Amino acid sequence: MPAVAGPEIERLIQLLARLPGLGPRSARRAALHLIKKRELLMAPLTAALETAMEKIEVCRTCGNIDTHNPCTVCTDPRRDPSIIVVVADVADLWALERANAVNGRYHVLGGTLSPLDGVGPQDLSIDQLVSRAHDPQVKELILALNATVDGQTTAHYITELLRDSAVKVTKLAHGVPVGGELDYLDEGTLSAAIKQRTLF
Ligand code: ZN
Repeated sequence: MPAVAGPEIERLIQLLARLPGLGPRSARRAALHLIKKRELLMAPLTAALETAMEKIEVCRTCGNIDTHNPCTVCTDPRRDPSIIVVVADVADLWALERANAVNGRYHVLGGTLSPLDGVGPQDLSIDQLVSRAHDPQVKELILALNATVDGQTTAHYITELLRDSAVKVTKLAHGVPVGGELDYLDEGTLSAAIKQRTLF
């Protein structure tokens, strides 16, 4: 597409086009919308982005992203400390929270084991997970991992590591399609998958 605006606006469009779900055309539309709503939208968005940049941290306990450390989920006293839901990515944590599926705490691995891509246990927060799992108040680990080969490899690996521990390891049941990614599931499916979890 030929440039129709100065480099400052083209840059804005290019950056917006890198967001998931936005292609070049919708990025252009979004940019134009922001420009038209400079006072109402662009200024607050700029401020929100700046504040977020300053304040965002990775939770030292669970790996969630928040402006508090430990994060809001980890410090919420209404959550059941006996359950840890293990997810690959922060997006999965947020998806499960959206589905209001479980009232436990989380552990974000930072990915899944993938020998082909050279992702080994040392690249994920598996050691931290194992030490959290040995906390006497933790009774159950729910492996909420993608129904992909890598997701299931990771689930098996973690289960093996905790074979001799007192913690019960469960996994998601029906509803997660083979090859499916949690982030793309609707809330109902995700909620059912958590409720019908089975012993690993
Ligand atoms: Zn946390």
